[in-house]
Amino acid sequence: MPRTHASLPRLFVQPELAAGAQMTLGKDQSLYLAAVLRKTVGDEVVLFNGRDGAWLARLQSDAKKSVALELIEQIAVQTPRSDLWYGFAPLKTERLDYVIQKATEMGAGVIQPVLTRFTQVNRLKHDRLVANAVEAAEQCEVLSVPDVRTELTLDRLLDSWATEHADRRLILADEVEASASPVEAISALKGQRVGVLIGPEGGFSDEERSRLHSLPFVVPVSLGPRILRADTAAVAALAVIQAIIGDWR
Ligand code: SAH
Repeated sequence: MPRTHASLPRLFVQPELAAGAQMTLGKDQSLYLAAVLRKTVGDEVVLFNGRDGAWLARLQSDAKKSVALELIEQIAVQTPRSDLWYGFAPLKTERLDYVIQKATEMGAGVIQPVLTRFTQVNRLKHDRLVANAVEAAEQCEVLSVPDVRTELTLDRLLDSWATEHADRRLILADEVEASASPVEAISALKGQRVGVLIGPEGGFSDEERSRLHSLPFVVPVSLGPRILRADTAAVAALAVIQAIIGDWR
C-alpha cells in the first residue's frame, strides 16, 4: 500500500471493485464516513474486498445513511490471503475482541476458535468475531480479512487435522515445556505450512497435552520462562513465527 494513501479511511466492502464502478454504502459505513469522519463530496477513501486489491474511491454524495462512491483507480494489487493458521481457546468478551484483532494484525489468514477442557466460554458470537477481524484488517491495511471459523472442540480439530490440514505442522505453545527459545524449533519449519495453537487461561489439561505431544504434526514450543496471559501468548507466538519463517521479511 503506497503510504501516500495511508491517511485515508479504508473500508472492507463486498461488491466487485473496478474502474468507474459506483456503489452506495450501507447505513453503518455511511454513518462512519459522513457523520463520524465528516467526509463530504469529493473526499477520497480506500476500498478493498479481498479479491480486487485496494481501490481509491471518491464520495459522490455524503448522505448520512447512503454515501455514494465512485471508484477512481486501483492502488494495490490483490495479494493472496496469509496461509498462517491461528487456533486459540476463546477468552471472555473484551479479551476475545482483542485476540481477534491482534491475530489479524499479526497476519493470521485463518482464525479458528478451539474449545478445550478449561476454555472459559462456549458460545461465541461469530458476527462479532468477524466484525473485529474486519475492523483490524481495515486499520492494518491488509487486503484480505482473515477467515474466522466457527468454534470446534480440540478433539474434533485433531481428529480432522490429517484431512483438513494434510501437510500443515501445528506449533503448540506449551507453557509446560521447559523454558527455551522457540527459534530453533520454528526455524526448522521454514517453507512448511504452519498453524499455531494457544491454550486457555487455565492451560491445556494433562490429557490434552499428552494427546497433542503424541501427534507427529505437533511441534511443541516454549515462549520463555514466564507464564504469559493467553492473549499475550497469542501475540508473542505469532510474532516469533512471522519473524522467523513468516512474512516479516
Ligand atoms: N496453566 C497456566 C498457563 C495458561 S496460559 C495458567 O493457568 O495460568 C494460556 C496459554 O498461553 C497456554 O495454554 C499456552 O498456550 C500459552 N502460554 C503461556 N505462557 C507460555 C509459555 N511460557 N510458553 C509457551 N506457551 C505459553
